[in-house]
Amino acid sequence: MPVSEAIKLPKNTYQAALENFELAANMLELESDIRAIIKYPERILEVSLPVRMDNGHILRFEGYRVQHSTARGPAKGGIRYHPNVTLDEVKALATWMTWKCAVVNIPFGGAKGGVTCNPKDMSQGEVERLTRRYAASILPLIGPEQDIPAPDVYTNAQTMAWIMDTYSMTKGYPIPGAVTGKPISLGGSLGRNEATGRGVFYTIMSACEHLKIPIKGARVLVQGFGNAGSVAANLLHEIQARVIAVSDSRASIFNNKGFNLPQLIAYKEKTGQVLGLPGSEEIRADELLALDCEILIPAALEDVIDGENAPAVKAKILAEAANGPVTPEGDAVLENKGVFVIPDILCNAGGVTVSYFEWVQDEQHLFWEAQDVYNRLERVMKTSFAEVLKLHLDRKLSMRVAANMLGIGRVAEAVKIRGLYP
Ligand code: NAD
Repeated sequence: MPVSEAIKLPKNTYQAALENFELAANMLELESDIRAIIKYPERILEVSLPVRMDNGHILRFEGYRVQHSTARGPAKGGIRYHPNVTLDEVKALATWMTWKCAVVNIPFGGAKGGVTCNPKDMSQGEVERLTRRYAASILPLIGPEQDIPAPDVYTNAQTMAWIMDTYSMTKGYPIPGAVTGKPISLGGSLGRNEATGRGVFYTIMSACEHLKIPIKGARVLVQGFGNAGSVAANLLHEIQARVIAVSDSRASIFNNKGFNLPQLIAYKEKTGQVLGLPGSEEIRADELLALDCEILIPAALEDVIDGENAPAVKAKILAEAANGPVTPEGDAVLENKGVFVIPDILCNAGGVTVSYFEWVQDEQHLFWEAQDVYNRLERVMKTSFAEVLKLHLDRKLSMRVAANMLGIGRVAEAVKIRGLYP
């Protein structure tokens, strides 16, 4: 495991999720009985996954699926493969999915899955066998009407194809709506692969407009040059922002003039890393976060900006492409410094929004053009941004509390109307 991944073990991400819930619930003056219903996960499944490795031995992995809420519709959430996956982390991610789906007002609840493993050290065949075993193990929970998985860190369209196939094998017929983020040839949606980064881009555009920051020439830092980070960076580059530093799990690189994004993306695809890009200079991971810039996009993992390193952040806008990158202590520091935070449950909601579009297309067997997907996504992201911004300005709350209030308020309303409590 690369050192940069090992040192940033989540302290307790779930604790942070619960703290943020309470802050927003207090502002909403939410009754205690409703809080008790919507705060905790509805269902948790822990599975043991024996997998035959290429050397003939059987290795046991641990996996989880957490359904936090089905108050507003079927549970929805990605699957993460990472050595640091824990049940608490999956619970936190599932909780955020509930509020996120409610913020963008799509008819889903929240879920998340994860397997503690390092797919980078495994062959394609080993990852496929692990995925099929995991899919079979969580089978009682998932399905197009119940709980729909999608990709997250170190999983992708191929992983979803294996899950869809395993699920369909048990039913005897193809069920594309069982997962989203699938390959197009299996009923995936145009625009899903780049949806999270595109959504991040739309919220950054809205924030720049609100703060009157010219996007042309704006300096951008991206921590985590993966799916979400690279797509957002590329779209910003296309409208002449200057992406001056990016990182992945191995290294951070810098170029004061700004990278040529298509060249950087091609280099990362070819070599599997950003380190060594011609014309770039290697910097330390902590240096990247502290560079002078207008826009900082954490797009890797949780808890990377905390009370200790937040004072060094110089960005005007912090766009949370990753889930939970800022701890509550980090939040307090950023607020004092006047950094405008676009919170994760708003900023990265483009992924689940286009997942929703994919699910709708699968259910209807009618597929949309890419431009249709982009237009609808832009409308959802900009409307949701405006709603959160209004609460932020009217009630003089941080953007995070405002987003949580919007999401939690909608879930509470659904629970009250359904009468889920005695
Ligand atoms: P990904 O696997 O495509 O990319 C993750 C990137 O982060 C990789 O380039 C990896 O090398 C890098 N990374 C890992 N540890 C790092 C570290 N310590 N420092 C710097 N870089 C590091 O994953 P992704 O799908 O882009 O997800 C990234 C974040 O976005 C996660 O928090 C995920 O939950 C969130 N997210 C993803 C989606 C989606 O649709 N993919 C949707 C919503 C939120």
